Amino acid sequence: MKPVIALVGRPNVGKSTLFNQITRSRDALVANFSGLTRDRKYGAARHDDVSFIVIDTGGISGEEEGIDAAMAQQSLLAIDEADEVLFLVDARAGLTPADQHIAHHLRRTGKVAHLVVNKTDGLDAEQAAAEFHQLGMSSSFHIAAAHNRGIRAMLDVLVANWREPETGDAAPESQGGVRIGIIGRPNVGKSTLVNRLLGEERVIVFDLPGTTRDSIEIPYERHSKPYTLIDTAGVRRRKSVKETVEKFSIVKTLQAITDANVIVMVLDAREGLVDQDLHLIGYALDAGRALIIAVNKWDGMEPEDRQKVKEQLKRRLTFLDYAPVHQISALHGTGVGDLYASIDQCYASSMAKWSTNQLTQLLQDATAQHQPPLVQGRRIKLRYAHQGGSNPPIIVVHGNQTSSVPDIYKRYLENIFRKVLKVVGTPIRFEFKSGE
Ligand code: GDP
Ligand code: GDP
Repeated sequence: MKPVIALVGRPNVGKSTLFNQITRSRDALVANFSGLTRDRKYGAARHDDVSFIVIDTGGISGEEEGIDAAMAQQSLLAIDEADEVLFLVDARAGLTPADQHIAHHLRRTGKVAHLVVNKTDGLDAEQAAAEFHQLGMSSSFHIAAAHNRGIRAMLDVLVANWREPETGDAAPESQGGVRIGIIGRPNVGKSTLVNRLLGEERVIVFDLPGTTRDSIEIPYERHSKPYTLIDTAGVRRRKSVKETVEKFSIVKTLQAITDANVIVMVLDAREGLVDQDLHLIGYALDAGRALIIAVNKWDGMEPEDRQKVKEQLKRRLTFLDYAPVHQISALHGTGVGDLYASIDQCYASSMAKWSTNQLTQLLQDATAQHQPPLVQGRRIKLRYAHQGGSNPPIIVVHGNQTSSVPDIYKRYLENIFRKVLKVVGTPIRFEFKSGE
């Protein structure tokens, strides 16, 4: 599971500046689910080979009323969701009562928390940090977020603690069969779909509560084939006040994406594709997961509205034209059984193994059909290919001047490989290695 880090501190200490630095290369993937997670922003981040999730929060001042109280509440929920907390303070402003209030709260939660003394630019960092020692935090870092100073060193230390041996980004090799993550915005019909998938004829649900922290796993068999549903909708959750308020959780969704082999992304046909859907799709693709689009609530829709939705999806999901799209009604069960054909196919594609011979032959056919371009008078040479991983499939291409392969040529290769190898639903990652 990806570690989850929450940034907390008073307003203005530099939390969003740090958030932006940490998630910089991934700005497009930052999801801000307004209305649901007011003042909480989630970003996918990576340092060296370790991916993690960062939550930015509005801030806690300790004296909140009205809207500030709601904001502080969000910070507290973010702390709850996190594995570790980065507690930011402002070296220029010095220690304030609000900082002490936050430190006190953090001690009570028992979470792993690190003090981060920000805005140390132009100051003697040691000296500036000295007065914060009385907060009694066990570890501390000095940074200048706005100048990107000290952040790398800080992440080096944090990441060293989380590093898991050699699992990388890949989802776990399937125990319990195909691991299916059901994701989507609130109210699109995830719970209804989960119940429908499990309620189907010839499904045997095992009564193992395979409960992990952030997602609930439901192992079952269908036609004697094992599957595990990773349920982000909280179908099987015990009721508690907080869980009903926070039924939808981005962190749960991101964890489900990490843990799954295949993602079923549920859309609400009556609302069409909205920005939040695209954020979630972006997360799934970024994680390299095979994806199926389930357009739910297809029942009772007028033909012209159906046509509109189909056209919108086609237009806005051109980058995803390899993903199967299903129109379903989770409520009535229409089309739900057909999802399994796609799930099985996507799984097979994402786990497929190809020989170096096969991939190299394919590469040579592709380059013979359509040569790579010349770069400064010399032709790019692509010599052989081998597989570098699965879920998602990684194809490593060796040659000369490979750093100059233009995107359009990469897309050409991807299309050919996808077609010939019959790869459905999953992204394919190409890595180019140069012999020079
Ligand atoms: P937040 O409210 O905690 O999210 O704080 P922001 O990230 O919005 O930062 C508040 C202000 O502090 C902004 O004007 C930032 O430019 C400034 N700031 C952030 N980091 C640094 C830093 O490292 N040095 C200095 N001098 N200013 C900073
Ligand atoms: P979740 O928040 O994504 O888990 O969504 P729910 O499964 O709780 O469904 C939200 C609402 O949409 C409920 O009122 C469902 O009855 C309704 N709903 C779910 N699937 C369908 C469907 O296929 N057709 C129609 N008409 N309503 C649906």
